[in-house]
Amino acid sequence: MHYFRTYTEINLGAIRRNAEAIKAYTGKQLIAVVKADAYGHGMGPVAETLHTVADMFAVATVGEGVELRQSGVQKPILILFSSLPEQIAQILEHRLTPTIGNWEFASRLNEVAPRTLNIHVNINTGMNRSGVRWTEAAAFLNRIKTLQRLEIEGIFTHLATADEADKSFVSVQLERFSSLLANTDGKIVHAANSAATLAVPESHFDAVRPGLSLYGIYPASEKPIALEPALTWKTWIGWVGSISEGEGVSYGLTYKAARQTRVAMVQVGYGDGYPRALSGVGEVLISGMRCRIIGRVCMDVSVVELSDNANVSVGDEVVLIGKQGEAEITVDEVAHGAGTISYEILTQIGPRVKRAFNY
Ligand SMILES: *Cc1c(COP(=O)(O)O)cnc(C)c1O
Repeated sequence: MHYFRTYTEINLGAIRRNAEAIKAYTGKQLIAVVKADAYGHGMGPVAETLHTVADMFAVATVGEGVELRQSGVQKPILILFSSLPEQIAQILEHRLTPTIGNWEFASRLNEVAPRTLNIHVNINTGMNRSGVRWTEAAAFLNRIKTLQRLEIEGIFTHLATADEADKSFVSVQLERFSSLLANTDGKIVHAANSAATLAVPESHFDAVRPGLSLYGIYPASEKPIALEPALTWKTWIGWVGSISEGEGVSYGLTYKAARQTRVAMVQVGYGDGYPRALSGVGEVLISGMRCRIIGRVCMDVSVVELSDNANVSVGDEVVLIGKQGEAEITVDEVAHGAGTISYEILTQIGPRVKRAFNY
């Protein structure tokens, strides 16, 4: 992999162990969320790794569903958000499971489906971004039942605040949801994202629907089971230099050396998805030591400060996320430095970053 300028190493074994741990902890079916290229971990290989653990996979779009089916996945694939009538042909061809959030799409689907089709109905219990409003959901479900070719396989909702310490709105949403669940025997009821999977057992119902935690990252402070981060992001040193007191570094010369300083260029920049917001604040690992990013992160490279006695040369490994020796930089640390969340850091890792898979 050294041949590549910057690359991630994905530990598929860790992802499988995380999924198994979540399944053992909840004792429920696992709907593995692999949208956005499995949160940057590679949708095809992740799905292949989870094919014996996951009961179902979930993606955000029909396009992702088609790609997942074409990668060889046989398990059901749930599209988490509504689709357009124009996408019905693809849904049918690739045996995808659509989410129903409005009547027009449902009746159109019923008209053109050549066979019985499993669907999941999304109930909006307060997240207010998709689904049928809970106050109208009982009537909606009854109306869907009149559509001969649609089989309600699942009913779900999504929680807005499961990652917060105050779980009071989670309870409000779960009460609204539960009030609709009479006569739903045999249907797969699900609500829990990672945060609720780890912190709200009452939300587990028949299946849990985690994404982030599969990849070994906790969405909140609750950590009832041990998860292993699966992604390490590396690059290597492309240049080493020494600058005099008062000299600046990178665009705008925003950093000024307080004294004679050894610096190194590392081959990653915002063009790879490494946040520009880490300018002057991020840290990377070199020779098992933390080194601070100085000056602005550029499109292709960044510059770090070296300690005076560091024995460092061009080609040495740099860890941006993950472990090196005893030291570790977590996704959460990078996200915090960049003023964002782990989800965004992982999903922004760009196409120039090669991926290596191991077990
Ligand atoms: C993305 C998503 C999930 C997974 O969320 P995590 O916080 O990553 O576990 C679950 N359900 C829906 C509807 C989603 O959009």
